[in-house]
Amino acid sequence: MTVPLPPGATIGMLGSGQLGRMSGQAARRLGYRLIVLSPDEDAPASHVADRTIVSPLDDAAGYRAIAPLCDVLTYEFENVVAKPLLDIAAYVPVYPRPAILDTVRHRLREKEAVRALGVPTADFVPVRCPEDLKKALDQFGKGVLKRALGGYDGKGQRVVWKGQDAEEVYRELAPDGAELIFEEFVPFVRELSVIVARSVDGRVVTYPCTENIHRRGILHLSIAPARTAADRAAKARHMAARLAEGLDLVGVMGVELFETDEGLLVNELAPRPHNSGHYTLDACYTSQFEQHIRAVAGLPLGDPSLHTPAVMLNLLGQHMESLGRHLATILRDPLLKLHVYGKREARPGRKMAHLTALGSSVEEACARLERVWPLLRAGDEPLI
Ligand code: AMP
Repeated sequence: MTVPLPPGATIGMLGSGQLGRMSGQAARRLGYRLIVLSPDEDAPASHVADRTIVSPLDDAAGYRAIAPLCDVLTYEFENVVAKPLLDIAAYVPVYPRPAILDTVRHRLREKEAVRALGVPTADFVPVRCPEDLKKALDQFGKGVLKRALGGYDGKGQRVVWKGQDAEEVYRELAPDGAELIFEEFVPFVRELSVIVARSVDGRVVTYPCTENIHRRGILHLSIAPARTAADRAAKARHMAARLAEGLDLVGVMGVELFETDEGLLVNELAPRPHNSGHYTLDACYTSQFEQHIRAVAGLPLGDPSLHTPAVMLNLLGQHMESLGRHLATILRDPLLKLHVYGKREARPGRKMAHLTALGSSVEEACARLERVWPLLRAGDEPLI
């Protein structure tokens, strides 16, 4: 690959959801061509692509079809198949490198790798049979049991505690005998995340630490900057940078953390643009999507600084009808910035769009969302 990639070069994107779409928009703005590998012709990223290759994402044939057409390949979600990527990486650069994907997509390997780099996580043990679970419950009392592979937005996991029938809980989560991980339950005061970017030549930048609020396992709000102590936020950014270096990242990575009274624990890594970094489109000098493209194209990284405090609200399938009805009222506020992903079907819980509120403080940004939330919400749920 010629570094940096000149305008007109082709970036291949494995996956075609909203992360691929917003990365693709950044790629096109920089003059790159975009080819998307997608199971569906009519997908968020294919709307902004020069070409879509239709193929299931777990079929190596699709990877072999897209690779020779591209100068560099990247991906927008972790569940792409690592093995064919490793083969392809021999003749087309794949960023972030397949090795990092292979580590983070498996929760046990991920936590071991984080700890090996001296970054703390919750205590955890592998669970391969009901007896392992019983032992973990006796040792820790309460925990979160997760499938080691797959699962997102809180799917494939549940809170477990001593006194439950270990056999029954194990069978429920692993009817196929899949490997599980038991994590000690973390009584966090806040969930945080940091987007970190690393260039081909090893330069690292981090975005401001963001505070995340989930509802029913799905990200609901991201608040930037996080309402936490400055030294905690700095520590979180430092940990993210350490992980990017230690894992030889090229591209951007979302690092999710728990903040407890004692300190910070890393929960999960995602070597791709992250939902909690969507606010960067409107609130930072360089969005996480442009940063990702800059990194994988061998360009210098941009300035990640926040120029305006922001709060991002995810809009799910159940919000879309109200959004359509009240669009003009909502957008009458010029500091509410709407991004719609172009998905055909608005199923409940499906991420369809996001709305970022800007303000001179996060409180002011939040107040902007509070004003329109009654028009959007399904039921009478408060915003926070
Ligand atoms: P994950 O899929 O690991 O990101 O988990 C989804 C959500 O479950 C997190 O955002 C937390 O709210 C919660 N969670 C996950 N692991 C733990 C844990 N060990 N202790 C407490 N809550 C957790």
